Amino acid sequence: MVMQADDQLRQLYQEVILDHSRSPRNFGKLEPHTHAAEGYNPLCGDQLELYLRIADDGRIEDVHFDGKGCAISRASASLMTEEIKGKTVGDARMLFERFHQAITSDPSASVDGRGLGKLVVLLGVREFPTRIKCATLAWHTLLQALDGGGTTSTEE
Ligand code: ZN
Repeated sequence: MVMQADDQLRQLYQEVILDHSRSPRNFGKLEPHTHAAEGYNPLCGDQLELYLRIADDGRIEDVHFDGKGCAISRASASLMTEEIKGKTVGDARMLFERFHQAITSDPSASVDGRGLGKLVVLLGVREFPTRIKCATLAWHTLLQALDGGGTTSTEE
């Protein structure tokens, strides 16, 4: 079977998402932690808790998530923890800006995936607007944790 490069890439991305949703990285509560928040996406029923341990110099020493949700929300949370671990809070916020801009961009336009690391595998979600909130839930929960904790909902 001959596949176009695009299809091959799509399939590879699909496999990465499946892998992360089946065996999420950094899954389970983190103790001790310095920051935590809960996120809820009522559209899909995704629910997650995020735990961070942030050093005095602003570096994210460790980050874990827990909860239950669809494959996209789990994969996105798992990929996020991998990407932000070791980064400073400022760099993590910047990465979210970039990711958010890319994932909410026009699906028919080409997207600049530079600087997004493994997060590029999630950009196929652009074609399914109802799933974008599944992919950004972990990030909104991250901001909630950084900005004082509590609970955030994608419907607020
Ligand atoms: Zn979902």
